[in-house]
Amino acid sequence: MKKVLIVGGGAAGLNLALRLEAQGRDYLLLEKSDRWGGRLGGELGFDLGFQVLQTNYPMVQEMVDLSSLSLRPFISGAYCWDGQGFRAYLNPLKSQNLLDALPHFPLGLKDLWALAAWYLRTRFPLDPLKPSRVSTEAYLAGWALSETFEQRFLRPFFQGIFLSKDLHLSKTHFLFYLQQFLDGSAAIPQGGMQALVDQWLQGIPPHKRQLKAEVQSFGEGVLTLSSGESLAYDDLVLASDAYATAQLLGISLDASSFKSCQSFYFKVKGNRTNALPMLHLLPEGNELLHFYFLQDLDPSAPNLLSCTSLNMDLSAKEASDALNKFLPALRFDLERQVKVERALPVPGKFQGLSHAAQEKNVWLCGDYLLYPSLNAAMTAAKQVAELI
Ligand SMILES: Cc1cc2nc3c(=O)[nH]c(=O)nc-3n(C[C@H](O)[C@H](O)[C@H](O)COP(=O)(O)OP(=O)(O)OC[C@H]3O[C@@H](n4cnc5c(N)ncnc54)[C@H](O)[C@@H]3O)c2cc1C
Repeated sequence: MKKVLIVGGGAAGLNLALRLEAQGRDYLLLEKSDRWGGRLGGELGFDLGFQVLQTNYPMVQEMVDLSSLSLRPFISGAYCWDGQGFRAYLNPLKSQNLLDALPHFPLGLKDLWALAAWYLRTRFPLDPLKPSRVSTEAYLAGWALSETFEQRFLRPFFQGIFLSKDLHLSKTHFLFYLQQFLDGSAAIPQGGMQALVDQWLQGIPPHKRQLKAEVQSFGEGVLTLSSGESLAYDDLVLASDAYATAQLLGISLDASSFKSCQSFYFKVKGNRTNALPMLHLLPEGNELLHFYFLQDLDPSAPNLLSCTSLNMDLSAKEASDALNKFLPALRFDLERQVKVERALPVPGKFQGLSHAAQEKNVWLCGDYLLYPSLNAAMTAAKQVAELI
């Protein structure tokens, strides 16, 4: 039987291993660090940057047992700043009580028209693997949306998903994500995103996976680990992140190939009554994109606030000052600061990797080949498992 070596134990590598396991194949999964999951992982609240599990992602439906994850779902909607305070802005299509759901900040006719049109479009299939060339930025510009809707809700919300001030992803991805929010829920497992990783690991026998196994080079059917050990393969799959893959292929990538972000976790001091489990969005132009209180999502969680910034130089003091502008009655003490360099790949920047991989006769697998999301990493694994 052909021996497959998989380099990288993130979502893509783990899902490929699961699929090869189901096919009864001979494979070994190699991960350089001392933990599985790559960009996924961490306990609740301390995920590697704020991220959520979209329960309706096609790949999640196929590869995840959601019922055993004790999901903590966010309510569909967001708290938006109205100039004086945060107002709950619920998704009327998902709210039990339509009156509660009526928007508190004024939506113009054009906003309502756009929302209706987007809703209708999401009732039909959208293929994120065949993205339109029109960026979300250009697409939104065509709707003449009101400043309030755009700057207090739409932009901060999608900037948090794209991890980018400019909404560079295709309008197909914008509509696809919208569809996911409308048809499923955004949730965090009680054990954080790591619970997802742990679930997958149960399906991969321990002797078929190895931590602290950093691949340094490969060629002629032999791969070398940084320990000096050599392993023979018939098929080699690089399921490493784009940056590491480029290094293995001897290609350099510039900084514009990735989006980075910072997450801060602050202990909250001061009186606050629990609110709905929703993100608080900060209006366009602030250093922070959004925050949420962990206890709103899970009352048994620590009394922490998690917030995200795209400014990699922002200090914890500047972040807490930014929060205090909106929440003057509370005090924030830093618990943890996580800088996520190269959090998301920018689509269209990695053709060089595909060409080099073809020349060197290796397979590539990872989110950067499709679009930046968990669903894409898992889709890439499915594609490779079908081809290999
Ligand atoms: C802050 C943040 C927020 C996000 N939010 C969301 C979200 O809300 N929804 C969503 O769908 N997606 C989100 N994502 C994206 C999602 O996490 C990624 O798309 C997905 O996890 C990528 O998986 P991957 O396997 O392709 O890559 P990675 O997770 O990067 O895995 C690559 C693995 O390869 C290993 N590796 C690298 N080099 C070597 C080597 N030489 N030898 C051995 N191993 C090696 C690495 O250690 C790593 O474990 C977010 C990501 C971040 C960082």
